[in-house]
Amino acid sequence: MIIGSHVQMKAPDYLLGAVREALSYGANALMLYTGAPQNTKRVDTSVMKIEEAHRLMRENGLDASRLIVHAPYIINPANSVKPEVGELAVSFLSMDAQRTAQIGAKYLVLHPGSYTTTDITTGIQTAIAHLNEACIPDGVTVCLETMAGKGSEIGYRFEQIAEILDGLKQSDRYGVCLDTCHIHDAGYDLSDFDAVLDEFDRIIGLSRLHVIHLNDSRNIRGAAKDRHANIGDGMIGYETLCRIAHHPRIAHIPKILETPYIDGKAPYKEEIEHILKKAE
Ligand code: FE
Ligand code: FE
Ligand code: ZN
Repeated sequence: MIIGSHVQMKAPDYLLGAVREALSYGANALMLYTGAPQNTKRVDTSVMKIEEAHRLMRENGLDASRLIVHAPYIINPANSVKPEVGELAVSFLSMDAQRTAQIGAKYLVLHPGSYTTTDITTGIQTAIAHLNEACIPDGVTVCLETMAGKGSEIGYRFEQIAEILDGLKQSDRYGVCLDTCHIHDAGYDLSDFDAVLDEFDRIIGLSRLHVIHLNDSRNIRGAAKDRHANIGDGMIGYETLCRIAHHPRIAHIPKILETPYIDGKAPYKEEIEHILKKAE
């Protein structure tokens, strides 16, 4: 199983520290932000100990597809109300895609955004227009994340993700990240995961799925809330999440935990052990 979690990337060891943190959890995949998710301050990637990090990854059998970057929340390509927000989305996405390539990662996870005060159709068309202005370097695939439908978020139905992908000129540089908490909150019934995969395959195509975010949810199915819970502590439950984690059709896809810290401590080592134990 390819499984890991969100990890921190901070001074002084940056990427090397992030890989070490992942390995300390028994993970063989990891996801990180290249800077603070809420602001635009960015440290140059040249100081991030990239070569040493990749050496450590190689020694542990982790290739570039297991190193995943998450774009910051400030990127909102669906906003047509404030032009400066859309412009920032284009420039910041282009920069983060460049940084993804620089740190030697393959996948960049991106929230498709929120339409704010317009409507879902306008939001989707705005997102398509902005993404078509962004510059995604060779070797990087931007993975649109399935959302919970909180507030005015777009991308909470597979049909909406498919519509965005269909509108992209460089569609081959885009794929999908499926978040279990988000789609449960959006109304999908994960207890029949084969049916969810069939629907995903019919509407988007399973070959476009590159990352799974494995989270439990604090809320009931369809709540449109987006509050993550620890594995087995939420409304999706341990059995269903284990079935997803061990599902043969998505065995090749990295599963990334974004579950909350418990008493200020990362829960990932225990959660990974707990999920792996299930197979025995
Ligand atoms: Fe996300
Ligand atoms: Fe997520
Ligand atoms: Zn979430």
